Amino acid sequence: MTSSDQRPSTSIRSLADLDVRHRVVFCRVDYNVPLAAGRITDDRRIVASLPTLRVLIRNGARVLCASHLGRPGGEVKAELSLAPVAERLGERLDVPVRFAEDCIGDAAEALVASLAPGEVGLLENLRFHAEETRGDDAFARALAAPADIYVNDAFGTAHRAHASVVGVPALLEERAAGLLMEKEIRSLSRVLDAPERPYVAILGGAKVSDKIALIEKLLERVDSIFIGGAMAYTFQKSRGIEIGDSLVENDKLDLARDLLERASARGTKIHLPLDHKSAASIDGSRVTEVRDEANETIPAGRIGVDIGPATRAAWIAAIGAETRTVLWNGPPGLFEAAGCEQGTRQLAEHLATSPAFRVVGGGDTAAAVARFGLADRFDHVSTGGGAALDFLSGATLPGVEALR
Ligand code: AMP
Repeated sequence: MTSSDQRPSTSIRSLADLDVRHRVVFCRVDYNVPLAAGRITDDRRIVASLPTLRVLIRNGARVLCASHLGRPGGEVKAELSLAPVAERLGERLDVPVRFAEDCIGDAAEALVASLAPGEVGLLENLRFHAEETRGDDAFARALAAPADIYVNDAFGTAHRAHASVVGVPALLEERAAGLLMEKEIRSLSRVLDAPERPYVAILGGAKVSDKIALIEKLLERVDSIFIGGAMAYTFQKSRGIEIGDSLVENDKLDLARDLLERASARGTKIHLPLDHKSAASIDGSRVTEVRDEANETIPAGRIGVDIGPATRAAWIAAIGAETRTVLWNGPPGLFEAAGCEQGTRQLAEHLATSPAFRVVGGGDTAAAVARFGLADRFDHVSTGGGAALDFLSGATLPGVEALR
């Protein structure tokens, strides 16, 4: 199977193809929102689901939303209840959202029975049942029992073969991608299958090991790759460059060398940092004694924390107005820490004004562009970290497959 089969236009139905009037639509959403002391600290995932829910409401569906929240490990954990999400969703939709204290059984059935056309209910955390992550068939049947139609708008869990992602759609004949899911598939497919060139990828983050499949895929497609973040130090060490006490994956040095050789053989240009910011120590997002390192090397006792000023200038100049496609996955520095965010920020600011088709591949990079207030300036900011990484690596996502 090729990744192009994952395009919704070819074989996955859209909301517009469904006749939802008066019917119960099981809508798998991603309400895995951050909470602090029972309060939602960031409701972007709730907001992201509104367009799909509004279409379903307008078309007279009885909307039954289901999501996971955190990792309760199959037990009921009060602090991971979706009840506060139901409340916030109601505020955002400006209609009351009813809540069922269990996602299956009597509570779920009573919720569905109470839903009039155009009304919305939310089921309690799917992962309060261990059967959800196990992809259990009986559990999927219980979830599907009150529903007529399946809609998946939870791209962030599409790489998981969980009961609500794979089992429920297998039981309901009518199924479709929600608007968010559709945009994810369309935007990510565009950079995967039909990128306009020049096409550049910017990679960063903590580890090479998480992104091997992505790098291999990109080597076949892009014109150049910019590698920053802690990941860069493994590549630099593989070339014999001194990297001090920076984060490194010593078991990936051969792989890094091999990837650099393959890139060079293909004529894919790899840009590694020309200079750095370093710190004396890192403890979470607290760093001490940040300073510039004027060239590629980082001395013993120092830890690389960001790309330096010469690298920022060189990369920004190299990603010019002629660039047609940019994929960005992974921040080039420890942007959460004071004094270490400039590389990520300047890159984000530069890309925000670029005429290229620009996709941010989820996770920490999405958090970074949101923190800088620039998320709206990109063509697509994926809501899925692991799912986006898998999709862009060319893997088939179980949750996308299940919608065929
Ligand atoms: P990943 O999930 O692999 O994309 O990693 C993202 C994380 O990598 C972010 O939290 C960044 O702060 C972190 N990161 C980026 N550059 C560095 C660095 N030089 N040293 C340590 N962590 C880094």
